[in-house]
Amino acid sequence: MLKIIHYRNKCIGCGVCIEHTPDCWFIDLDGKARLKGSMKKKDFYVRDVTQVEVAENEQAAKDCPVKIIKVLK
Ligand code: SF4
Repeated sequence: MLKIIHYRNKCIGCGVCIEHTPDCWFIDLDGKARLKGSMKKKDFYVRDVTQVEVAENEQAAKDCPVKIIKVLK
């Protein structure tokens, strides 16, 4: 199963992930990005993604300045 992991507490709210994939991410009221439909697990958020969503999220993960997005394949 393809998954995205987001270590949200370290997010600086720069918006790069939203630029790459606005269907998956948004900036929440606290100024940090939120992965739509994700569930909290310990110190990170996680959700399944489709094969189509993987490529753009890999780009978001690459360009996130604090490297807190992980795509698991
Ligand atoms: S690119 Fe990284 S630091 Fe910037 S808003 Fe997205 S998750 Fe947060």
